[in-house]
Amino acid sequence: MEGKEIIKLTETIRFVSILLLVYWIYDYKMNHGLGMAVTFYHVILGVLILMIGILVHLLIKNQTSMFESHNKNVNRERVRYLTKILIFPLLAVILYGTNYYTKFQAELSDSSEISLYQDYQLTNQSVESNKIVSKDSMYAIIEKYKKSTVLLQSRNLHREISWKESKFGGYPNMESFSEYPKCDICKSSLNFVFQLYKKDFPEFYFPVDANIFQLFRCPNYNCNESFSDRYDQKMFHYYSKVDCKKNKVLIKLKNVGDLIEPEVPDCYLKSLVTSDYPKFDDYKSTDWAKLDSNLKESLLDESIEKYVTKSYTKIGGYPSFTQSSYYPKCNCGRIKEFLFQLSSDFPKKADLGIMIGDAGNIYYYICTHCGEKSIESYWDCS
Ligand SMILES: [Zn+2]
Ligand SMILES: [Zn+2]
Repeated sequence: MEGKEIIKLTETIRFVSILLLVYWIYDYKMNHGLGMAVTFYHVILGVLILMIGILVHLLIKNQTSMFESHNKNVNRERVRYLTKILIFPLLAVILYGTNYYTKFQAELSDSSEISLYQDYQLTNQSVESNKIVSKDSMYAIIEKYKKSTVLLQSRNLHREISWKESKFGGYPNMESFSEYPKCDICKSSLNFVFQLYKKDFPEFYFPVDANIFQLFRCPNYNCNESFSDRYDQKMFHYYSKVDCKKNKVLIKLKNVGDLIEPEVPDCYLKSLVTSDYPKFDDYKSTDWAKLDSNLKESLLDESIEKYVTKSYTKIGGYPSFTQSSYYPKCNCGRIKEFLFQLSSDFPKKADLGIMIGDAGNIYYYICTHCGEKSIESYWDCS
């Protein structure tokens, strides 16, 4: 084969390859490949093998004599000729790069998009190993959300717990009350839920002049304020300053009626500090989009125990919403922080007998800039 003929042939192949390349990019961008990718790779591979073959052929032959009749400036022509051959590996690099980029973009967006690339994925091992690396970065994204939470664990010891201790149920510290608290709506005597002393829970919010937080609940299902936006049954909380020297003995009038929630039994309150992760819709949408479909599914069906939002009664961490997440806005314009939640979910043998709607939770929020008056609640259930 003469040098001129070879040049003519490579010119034709180059022209066809560029046309195919332009079509391929158009096809991939517009129609996500339509299964053309693998076929096209075989074509490109074939062209490359052919070009390498020609190159080797030329190197074996005496190149100088081949080009002499074509052009007198041998060196210039040789450089030009080599450039024409080298364009193919360059095209291959561009092709691979574009395809890799398109695939990476598809991974970021949607799992249904990824399925269109599955044929290609199966033929490309290097992309598979890249996925393992990105798995680590996905866990790094989740770890960014890690928060500390204090679980308020209850234990029924079947004996009275002192009013001087942080506890669930029984008789509370009544130092700052003049009568046993009643519901302002239905006048039922409230059920005492729990009390937290600042000495036991320094991480909890206390106004500067308070050292105890107490939570009460209207036991009357038929109270006119039952099932509002804020609670299933009306909730009451009090901050006060106590010295724990002498308690008041206040009479709690018995509530009568069929639909009265039982009193919370006297229970030991033990705190357990652990880590907490949010429900899926508390992730930023940009972070959520970076997780692959398997990991998203595991977070949604809560199959990775470590990343499950703790569902019990707890201080801080993340609200374990049973419906979509909710964070109220303060009058000052800030989004309120999650303070604590009271849950219907208690471990076995530690049931407080509180049922919030249908196995729901009441969430408390605070704007720490605005203090106690900004505290508000919200509830949901399954
Ligand atoms: Zn009431
Ligand atoms: Zn505020």
